[in-house]
Amino acid sequence: MVSKEMHELGAKRSVIRELFEYGKQQAAVVGKENVYDFSIGNPTIPAPKCVEESIIELIKTVDPVEIHGYTSAQGDFEVRKGLADYMNGTFNCNLGAENFYMTCGAAASLTITLKALTVDSTDEFIIIAPYFPEYQVFIKNAGAKVVVIPADTKSFQIQMNLLEESINSHTKGIIINSPNNPSGVVYSENTLKSLADLLKKKSKEYNKPLYLISDEPYREIVYDGIKVPYVPSYYENTIVCYSYSKSLSLPGERIGYILVPDCVENDQDIYTAICGAGRSLGYVCAPSLFQKVILKCMGKTSDMALYDDNRKLLYDGLSKMGYQCVRPDGAFYLFVKSLEGDSVKFSENAKKYNLLIVPADDFGCPGYVRVSYCVDPEMIKRSFDAFQKLKDLYKTEK
Ligand code: PLP
Repeated sequence: MVSKEMHELGAKRSVIRELFEYGKQQAAVVGKENVYDFSIGNPTIPAPKCVEESIIELIKTVDPVEIHGYTSAQGDFEVRKGLADYMNGTFNCNLGAENFYMTCGAAASLTITLKALTVDSTDEFIIIAPYFPEYQVFIKNAGAKVVVIPADTKSFQIQMNLLEESINSHTKGIIINSPNNPSGVVYSENTLKSLADLLKKKSKEYNKPLYLISDEPYREIVYDGIKVPYVPSYYENTIVCYSYSKSLSLPGERIGYILVPDCVENDQDIYTAICGAGRSLGYVCAPSLFQKVILKCMGKTSDMALYDDNRKLLYDGLSKMGYQCVRPDGAFYLFVKSLEGDSVKFSENAKKYNLLIVPADDFGCPGYVRVSYCVDPEMIKRSFDAFQKLKDLYKTEK
């Protein structure tokens, strides 16, 4: 006998993985260059030079026992101190090493934070569609209940009236993700202010803190000079979950952090519970070498201009064909309205032209597809013919 829930989870591949695997099979049949795989959000731009240089320098200069050894559970002190200094300089805040807990990427940051905050099965976490599908898995794994706020398909900001109605005495927290996967939208200052006002009002009404978990793996992937604000300066009870998977193109190295600023209510208890959750989930410590690498690469990112070129190419190309696209301000996803109500069928039809686009049903937003543009620009150019054929298919069917 095995766990029924875990067996179900393991047996069911995500739609994204399903398409990605299908793409590999199809490439063997029709040739790699004839498959237009927009399924997965794996960075295609190499890590900046400082990553390679730091790895080489560290390997050559630091005692190998230290470089490959365990660090303290919450992460190397020097790394956390460097991180605090960098954040203070960038966001004009007042953080110390003790506010940071190093993790194995955003997925770990989220699972640890949710586990630390969940008291019992009556606790609820609110997520806002469209959302990263794994939130459902992470919240359930923490033993809490998921509450979904439907998407605002006009602006892809937050429907505050629906959020207000969903907050009750069981609400523990809400997860936001900006720049957003899959919509590419960055929450405006107005949205953050309204959200903060609402959460403050509701915290007072229920006489308890409502925690805002800000999932920020795309924080530096923004375009047209947009800046992602420091969320704790809008709302004090904010816990930031960060990752270097996207900003430094290091998804396989598993490195990120949780930030619990002093202004968070019960910050000490939360930090201690985070240490406990990391321990109970068996994370032990974040990768030692990559903790040191990120310290040396603080403030550096991969070359985002290349994603920006892809963004413009795809957005302009598809818009010209008549597709309704959400203009992305950040991340590397284009959110496109399906040409029929059933986006799963639409994605199936796209496969006829070897076009792999992800139906957004699992992101809580049926009727849309996600087109991931962290891909080779030449593939985008080659794919236009297939996008046109898909469009034409719907013309003839009408
Ligand atoms: N949160 C969002 C919104 C994501 O898109 C992803 C990965 O794609 C993650 C979290 C998990 O990131 P990581 O690779 O750092 O665990």
